[in-house]
Amino acid sequence: MDDALKAKLAILADAAKYDASCASSGTDKRHSGDGKGIGSTEGMGICHSYTPDGRCVSLLKILLTNACAFDCLYCVNRASSNVKRARFTVEEVVTLTLDFYRRNYIEGLFLSSGIIRSPDYTMEQVVRVAKSLRLEHGFRGYIHLKTIPDADPALLAEAGLYADRLSINIEVSTEASLASLAPEKDTGSIKRSMGRLRLKIDEAKAERKAPRFAPAGQSTQMIVGADGADDRTIIGTSANLYGSYGLKRVYYSAFSPIPDAPKALPLKAAPLMREHRLYQADWLMRFYGFAADEIFAGSDGMLPLEMDPKLAWALRHRQHFPLDINRASRDWLLRVPGLGTKSVKAILAARRVRSLRFDDLSRLRVPLRTVAPFIVTPDHRPRELDRVDLAARLAPKPRQMSLDV
Ligand code: SF4
Repeated sequence: MDDALKAKLAILADAAKYDASCASSGTDKRHSGDGKGIGSTEGMGICHSYTPDGRCVSLLKILLTNACAFDCLYCVNRASSNVKRARFTVEEVVTLTLDFYRRNYIEGLFLSSGIIRSPDYTMEQVVRVAKSLRLEHGFRGYIHLKTIPDADPALLAEAGLYADRLSINIEVSTEASLASLAPEKDTGSIKRSMGRLRLKIDEAKAERKAPRFAPAGQSTQMIVGADGADDRTIIGTSANLYGSYGLKRVYYSAFSPIPDAPKALPLKAAPLMREHRLYQADWLMRFYGFAADEIFAGSDGMLPLEMDPKLAWALRHRQHFPLDINRASRDWLLRVPGLGTKSVKAILAARRVRSLRFDDLSRLRVPLRTVAPFIVTPDHRPRELDRVDLAARLAPKPRQMSLDV
């Protein structure tokens, strides 16, 4: 790779790191650049994402350009930001992708872009990359394209023919926040584009002969902590997006201050733990049968940082517990703190054969300390539910933070 291309890659891979909608595996940073050991988790522009069948794939994650005509306050690439700019040509992105792919560095491409000239022009360029990879080079790897909601619907429809996944960022959880933080963007237009993508994705699934269209579905990203929205509002917006547009995933990205940030933004980063708790609440909706409102019933609208949202919910709704592990329905077992979908499945299978005793649960790898106050077995009757210090006893022990220097 020549030096000019390397320099562009450094800028445009770095600029893409703020987008969480291509999920990172979240692994620790390791490298072997000092000559010790082999391998690296820090390849420039390489991130990890999960395919619908659960495989983890490495993606080349870059922007076509970080020059942008828009001025979204929270974005390091906004028009008024004082960062180095670069732009790949379509051919350069195609060549880089194929080159990295042939060397086994990556299994796919995540491509996003700042807005150059106009949403249509930018989207055309992004689509040309995917089209060239698929049609001219027979590329079979994974492609995730970030789409631009204001672009011509025909361009979004074309993008879906070549991409595995499409995403449109909703950015923030309320229309009012979007208007103040990203004045050129419009929640209505974002949602209309999501709606169109949903129709196309559903059509392709329903008709066997329909052309392939974004088989891995669509996703979005919400920035957390750049505005005053509470967790209830954020999770409520996600529930609406999952329900109305059939999104595969909503990604949450804790706001972190950017260089030369506008005064309207908070000075401090949102806690990463808040992002983590939002993901847990999101899972409660998608896999544990919780409605968005229920997760927050009896709370102040924020998820506690010190314990997971299911435990917090159970502690606020102690009247439903303890549950008989041998009789409770699957839906109720899923609400017991400490029981995940796999352990509930194992409990349901095991209790078909015989009545379960408390000890049996440890063989099913259930965390006994967490579940104990909330369940009944023939040999176990908890008495802790009335204890005022139960929350403190069950909250995970504080962990020492990593060294700052
Ligand atoms: S459109 Fe907004 S969020 Fe996207 S690159 Fe431009 S300034 Fe950043």
